[in-house]
Amino acid sequence: MKQQGFITHNQCPACGGSHLGSFLQTKDYFLSKESFSLDRCDQCGLILTNPFPAEQIIGRYYQSDDYFSHPGKKKSMLSSLYKTVRYFNIRRKFKIIKSWRGSGKVLDIGCGSGEFLAYCKENGMEVSGLEPNDEARDYASRLLGKAVLRPDQLVSLPDKSFDVVSMWHVLEHVEDGRMQLKELHRVLKDDGVAVIALPNTASADCVYYREFWAGWDLPRHLYHFNRNAICQLASTQGFHLVKEHGLFWDAFYISMLSSRYQRKKFSFFAGLWQGLKSNVNAFGSKEYSSLVYVFKKT
Ligand SMILES: [Zn+2]
Repeated sequence: MKQQGFITHNQCPACGGSHLGSFLQTKDYFLSKESFSLDRCDQCGLILTNPFPAEQIIGRYYQSDDYFSHPGKKKSMLSSLYKTVRYFNIRRKFKIIKSWRGSGKVLDIGCGSGEFLAYCKENGMEVSGLEPNDEARDYASRLLGKAVLRPDQLVSLPDKSFDVVSMWHVLEHVEDGRMQLKELHRVLKDDGVAVIALPNTASADCVYYREFWAGWDLPRHLYHFNRNAICQLASTQGFHLVKEHGLFWDAFYISMLSSRYQRKKFSFFAGLWQGLKSNVNAFGSKEYSSLVYVFKKT
């Protein structure tokens, strides 16, 4: 039984549905090795870590040197792959943003060590970032030559001031997703775009690895979205989906990590093979391992 410091949901935060059924029991393979339960909303398909650790205690599940990327430190095969994926993803992410806004102001919520924003800046955009991790925030501030703020400082940013607000694999970590999207809506210009990347629970790699799927990343990921669930949640705050994109490289990284959790022999190659299969599948189904959703104000 989970004790103090955990929040239990009886209602779906995305669609308001009141039937949350047991979906899966799995654990934190990455750090604590503690077990967690996943529940699924019958109505919209949102999966929740239920109960999940509240803000006051969640810090202990992030206490690892591996969780935040420390540029230039690690040398394992997986970390090299992570860096390769990050290199391609930064360019891919910028290309997505550029297809909507080639210039103007971008706010990245959960900007990590700031590499994506640095690339946007090099390419002529005016950049701002928010980041909860002290070390990552300091690094990003130095890299960008501009103070990166804490997430609670989002409320101090003026209304309708950004052309693009991005959250790359961040919303699944946020305790109050509705409030987060409400604030995002407030700071976004009327013709701006919100770009939200999330692991996809309808991907073939999620289905294949099931309890070992690295995309669960429990209990750091509180919510686990499919297309319908994120659209439901976004619609409650005045957004509608205008476009989606797959992040091709994520399937390889997630699959290799999942194979390692599964304790498969030759997990690197097993993961490479499953990542490839997931992408081939997504070519038809569009259910990539991670999806980038582009929303506009309704
Ligand atoms: Zn729901």
